Amino acid sequence: MDGFRRQAHGASGFRSGLSAMPVSCEVAIVGAGPVGLALACALDDAGFSTTLIERKARAVLANPPDDGREIALTHRAVTVLRRLGLWQRLDSADISCIRAARVFNGASAGWLGLEAPAAGTLGHLVPNAAIRKAAFDEALRRPRVILRDGATIERIAVGADEVEIGIGEDASLRVRLLVAADGRLSATRRQLGIGAEVRDFGRTVIVCRLAHESPGDGIAYECFGYGRTLAILPLNDGRVSAVVTIASDRADALLRMDPQDFADGVAHQFCMRFGRMRLLGQRFAYPLVAVYADRFVAHRCALAGDAAVGMHPVTAHGFNLGLYGVDALQRTLAQARDGGGDIGSLRALSRYQAGHRQATRPMYLATNALVGLFTDDRPPARLARAAVLGLAARLPPLRAAVVRGLDDPRVIARPFLRNAPRFRS
Ligand SMILES: Cc1cc2nc3c(=O)[nH]c(=O)nc-3n(C[C@H](O)[C@H](O)[C@H](O)COP(=O)(O)OP(=O)(O)OC[C@H]3O[C@@H](n4cnc5c(N)ncnc54)[C@H](O)[C@@H]3O)c2cc1C
Repeated sequence: MDGFRRQAHGASGFRSGLSAMPVSCEVAIVGAGPVGLALACALDDAGFSTTLIERKARAVLANPPDDGREIALTHRAVTVLRRLGLWQRLDSADISCIRAARVFNGASAGWLGLEAPAAGTLGHLVPNAAIRKAAFDEALRRPRVILRDGATIERIAVGADEVEIGIGEDASLRVRLLVAADGRLSATRRQLGIGAEVRDFGRTVIVCRLAHESPGDGIAYECFGYGRTLAILPLNDGRVSAVVTIASDRADALLRMDPQDFADGVAHQFCMRFGRMRLLGQRFAYPLVAVYADRFVAHRCALAGDAAVGMHPVTAHGFNLGLYGVDALQRTLAQARDGGGDIGSLRALSRYQAGHRQATRPMYLATNALVGLFTDDRPPARLARAAVLGLAARLPPLRAAVVRGLDDPRVIARPFLRNAPRFRS
């Protein structure tokens, strides 16, 4: 195939005659998850035509099933969602506010508190399924967005001027830029030959919703116990989201536990602060694996969302960082085009890579360092845990920096990064 520098996976199926055909659209996005869909909206706003390639069926994307996740959104992420028209599509009953956060360590009575500035909120919580639905409805109403659902990519050939993508047996697309937004285990990233640092924590997170008797207080609680971690996120209507992190070999027992015994266990871990609790619906399990791609771009290719940075959920930043990346990629591509440049050139894409790595790497490292420390139950680590929280509790500027860092991860990461080498990771 003339002009094509590299073919990835199953290259034999390509026919060179296609190279005379015009491009199908400017950008192909693999993965119509929340980030891929948000990116399609952002690129449409900037005037680019986009094809989303997604393996799930359209009917599932249009009505995504509940997956138990409540996504904590920063103010900056909400601004991006609002600008893209997604926030306006959410039902207000689905949006809960986080007023403050409390972090507890083991059985210690002390805690670290984070307060929202002046009667505001630290952030908002929205079910992942509601975000996915809003993003799907908004993307699919855009004139320049096309969806290829139920699709699998058979071949990718990156050429000097375009990328040729083989879908299924005989369909193909020709685009100026391919964006992989197919999640943390991204097959597209692998097909493009981009490696990733993968950290398997050997733990599983179990998420579910619970009804409680006592009135809600809008506070998010994170309890780093010994052996398990429990977070309680405040929801509307007398409900909370519980996030239990446990060694993977013990997760199955927790998933199969009688629903009321499970709810009683959560209520007791919180010293009945919420009164009696009752499980609402299913418990969902996610293995904890963090991923950071070695590169975010290559010639005519870019990574977005979890395909670039798959965060441990303890700092609730995966989707937030994905949205910051959407913003950065939209700006990079618009600047390249407006300056008469090529949106797929490595020169243009390198700007996205540099900015997004700077925005994500410190938070990724700081999160992994915190997880390493707060899941280590050996005596020296217990002391270090108490010391870190005690120090933070006595330093209002540090707490203020953490609150500011919810919107700008570079702020939150700096103080933790200075401590990181002393942590066991
Ligand atoms: C328990 C839990 C709690 C979380 N809480 C928070 C939080 O509070 N705040 C926060 O910001 N983040 C949170 N996150 C992270 C957040 O959910 C993710 O960052 C976000 O879903 C990433 O979106 P994405 O579109 O990049 O990837 P995904 O959501 O993984 O979507 C990828 C899409 O690609 C499709 N796909 C996959 N492979 C292919 C293929 N080969 N071909 C075509 N399509 C493909 C999939 O079907 C899917 O639709 C949490 C995550 C978990 C697990």
